[in-house]
Amino acid sequence: MDINTVGVIGAGQMGNGIAHVFAASGFQVLMHDVSEAFVQKGLATIGRNLQRGVDKGKLTEGEKDRILKRVRTTTSLDDFSAVDIAIEAATEKWDVKKPLFEKLDATCREGVILASNTSSISITKLAGLTRRPERFIGMHFMNPVPVMQLIEIIRGLATSDETCDTVIGLATRLGKTPIQCNDSPGFVSNRVLIPMINEAIYALYEGVGEVEAIDGIMKLGMNHPMGPLTLADFIGLDTCLSILNVLHEGLGDPKYRPCPLLIKYVDAGWLGRKSGRGFYEYGDKA
Ligand code: NAD
Repeated sequence: MDINTVGVIGAGQMGNGIAHVFAASGFQVLMHDVSEAFVQKGLATIGRNLQRGVDKGKLTEGEKDRILKRVRTTTSLDDFSAVDIAIEAATEKWDVKKPLFEKLDATCREGVILASNTSSISITKLAGLTRRPERFIGMHFMNPVPVMQLIEIIRGLATSDETCDTVIGLATRLGKTPIQCNDSPGFVSNRVLIPMINEAIYALYEGVGEVEAIDGIMKLGMNHPMGPLTLADFIGLDTCLSILNVLHEGLGDPKYRPCPLLIKYVDAGWLGRKSGRGFYEYGDKA
């Protein structure tokens, strides 16, 4: 099946980024979220990010407008009967994703690939919700999507070679680098990254160092582009906690238990950049 129209579910930081890169590569995009306010916020973010490209001379005003015109929005999944692939980037919770994939499976045409941008939830288990597990795959974009090169491609137990090849071809058309791995909690990226972030939060919790010291030591000492607490704020503390819970439950090893300080921050609504406060404060972003 030729892929011309891409459906994206979730217009948050990942969803609007995914919609942005597909539209910028010439695809028609249908971006969905639960309310008109959320889809409009996602669309405004794409506009702002494209404008940055115009300001830097990487894009003309005309190109920006043409890209934006390729993104249509909806609050009804019924409109997904017209898409050629659906990529889900909704909140990292099983209870959110389960009804979404049941509905997508019922709505999308036969043969349409269903992909999830989940950071950690089992691709095999999500595929099991549908009647097309061979057409189900993990397509894990990195944040911020327009900037980051990698797409981690996760094969579920039943994912077919054809589905894998199609998605790898798509990633390449976006100018990204796809790298394949197998389905396991957290895949490769978050199996390695999130325990490091959790350990940094434990270091803060136990008074080993202040926020700036922990970040400064890891940034300068390990040559990382940002410290682990800055990165946690950037990812979203709710997302970090959800991933840790999946690692903890899925692998059954106490080394993955979420730090109580992370749980407390999420309970307080301190979710990082997107809520205006996490390990750092972000002024008017609240
Ligand atoms: P976010 O909180 O910024 O956005 C989530 C969006 O999903 C919100 O706009 C919310 O309204 C929407 N949503 C919730 N329920 C929905 C439903 N039933 N139908 C449609 N939309 C719904 O979160 P995010 O950071 O964009 O994460 C989205 C997904 O991407 C998660 O699975 C996350 O694990 C994954 N991911 C996140 C990152 C990251 O760095 N934040 C990186 C890679 C993958």
